[in-house]
Amino acid sequence: MSNVKKPLRIVKFGGTSVGNATCVRKVVEIIRDAARNSDLVVVVSAMSGVTNKLVEAATQSEAGNIDLVEMIFEELRDRHRGVVSALIHSVPARSRINRDVEQVFQEGERLCQGTALLRELTLRARDSISSLGERLAAPVLAAVLAECELSSEAIEATELIVTDSCHGAADPLMAPTRKRCEARLRPLLRQGMIPVVTGFIGATADGMLTTLGRGGSDYSATILGAALDADEVIIWTDVDGLMTADPRLVPGASTIPEISYREAAELAHFGAKVLHPKTISAVTPCGIPLWIRNTFSPELPGTRITATGALTDGGVKGLTAISDVALITVGGPGIVGVPDVLSRTFATTAAVRANILLISQSSSQNDICLVVSSSAAERTVEALRREFAQDLAHEKVEHITFDPTVAIVTVVGKNMRGSGTVGRTFTALGREDVNIIAIAQGSSECNISFAVSKQDVKAALDTTHREFQLGVLDSRALPVKSVAVNPAAWQYEPGQRTANAD
Ligand code: ASP
Ligand code: MG
Repeated sequence: MSNVKKPLRIVKFGGTSVGNATCVRKVVEIIRDAARNSDLVVVVSAMSGVTNKLVEAATQSEAGNIDLVEMIFEELRDRHRGVVSALIHSVPARSRINRDVEQVFQEGERLCQGTALLRELTLRARDSISSLGERLAAPVLAAVLAECELSSEAIEATELIVTDSCHGAADPLMAPTRKRCEARLRPLLRQGMIPVVTGFIGATADGMLTTLGRGGSDYSATILGAALDADEVIIWTDVDGLMTADPRLVPGASTIPEISYREAAELAHFGAKVLHPKTISAVTPCGIPLWIRNTFSPELPGTRITATGALTDGGVKGLTAISDVALITVGGPGIVGVPDVLSRTFATTAAVRANILLISQSSSQNDICLVVSSSAAERTVEALRREFAQDLAHEKVEHITFDPTVAIVTVVGKNMRGSGTVGRTFTALGREDVNIIAIAQGSSECNISFAVSKQDVKAALDTTHREFQLGVLDSRALPVKSVAVNPAAWQYEPGQRTANAD
C-alpha cells in the first residue's frame, strides 16, 4: 500500500448497467480501471426491472395471489443465479454467494407470505420487499469483483445511511450518516478494499429499513459522497449524460459537457429522467463534482455537474418536457370576490399531496391554472370541487375543470436574465404556430416553463432547440479518440432509461 493519498470516488451503477452478465463484465472493467488511481466506493442498483417485479410481488401479496408471487420470485432467482453462474467459477465462492442470495430470497418470501396472510401491505413491508433487488445486486457484484481479484465487501446501506422515517421517500440525516460511513467504510478503504453498497435504501436511527424513492440509488451515491467528503461522484448509466433535449424527440440533441447543479436539478425536476431529482441536493452544500457517464460507451466523457457549471457560458442549456400532466383551471370572473381563493386552492392541493409543476394566474384573477401530474389530477379536481362547493353553487366560481391533453415544456439555463430568452422563445414558437396555453417563469430565471398541447411538444422542442442552437456539438463532448458520434448510443430503449427502470 502506498502512502500517497488517492482521490476518493463514489461510483454508482444503475440497473441497466448490471442488467445481465455481459453488462456486469463491463462494470468490472470500469471499476478495475478506476481503482488504479482512486479509492472507490461502489453503489449499485437492483438489476433492471427487478424493483418493478418486487413491487408487483408486494401488491400481489396484498391481494392474496401467492402463486403469482412465487412465480415472480422464481423468475428473479433464475436471473440472479444466471449472472452468478456466468461470472463466478470458483466452486466455494459460487456456493457462498448462492447461499447469501438464497437467504435474501427467503426473507422476501416470508415478508410476502406475512403480507398475504394479513391482506395488508404496510409501508414498512413495501419498503422491505422493494429493497430486495439492491440487497441481491450488491453481494453478487462484490463476489464478481472478488473473483476478478478486486478485493471487495458488500455492505447494506441500512448500516450507513440514517434516514427519517418517511417510507418510500426517506431523506438522510447527515450527521449520524457521516459518523457511520467514517466508522464502517474508512477502515475498508484504508485496507485498499472496495465497499459495494446497496443503493436506494437506508434505515431509521432505530434500524427500520426505509427507501429513498424510486430511482433513489443516484441519491444514495451523492449522500455517501457528501458523508465521506469524496472528490467526485460518478453515476454510470445507460445514456451519454444530460442531453440538450430528449433525443427521441429532437434528433439533433447532444450531450451537455458541463452544467451547474442548479441547471441540472431543474432538468431533473422537469422530466429529464437521467438523474433522481434529489441527487444534486446532497452534493450542493459541499460542492463535490458529479458526473454522468455511459457504462456502454466509457470512452465518452459524459456530463460534469459542478457548483458553477462551465464558467464562460450562459443562456439556454437544455430543454425538457413532461407529458403525463394535466391542467386544472379554477375559474370564472366571480372568483375575484372569493376570499382566500389562492390559499384555499393550495391548501387543498397540499392535502391531497399533489405536486404542482406550474402555476399561472392573471392579475384579474379570472383563472387560476395549475399543472399537476396526471396521476394526481383526478383526486386534485375532486378535492377542489369539494372545497369550493359553496362557491360553485353560488356561481362565484364558475368552473373547476381539467384538461389531460397538455404537456409542460421547460427551457433551462442560468444567466438567462437580460438575454432576451423569453422573447426569442415565444417568437420562435409563434412562427411555428405552437399555441401556448400557460406560462411560468421562476424569479431565479433559471427556467421558463410553458404548457402546450401534447401534440405540439415535438414542434415546441424542435423549434426552441434550433432557436438557441443547442446540440451544436461541443468539441469536449467528442470521444477522446474522435470516434464518429454514433446516434444509436442516444437511442433510449423505451422505458429503459426512466428512473424507475433501474
Ligand atoms: N432499484 C430502485 C428503483 O428501481 C432504485 C434505483 O434504481 O435507483 O427504483
Ligand atoms: Mg436510476
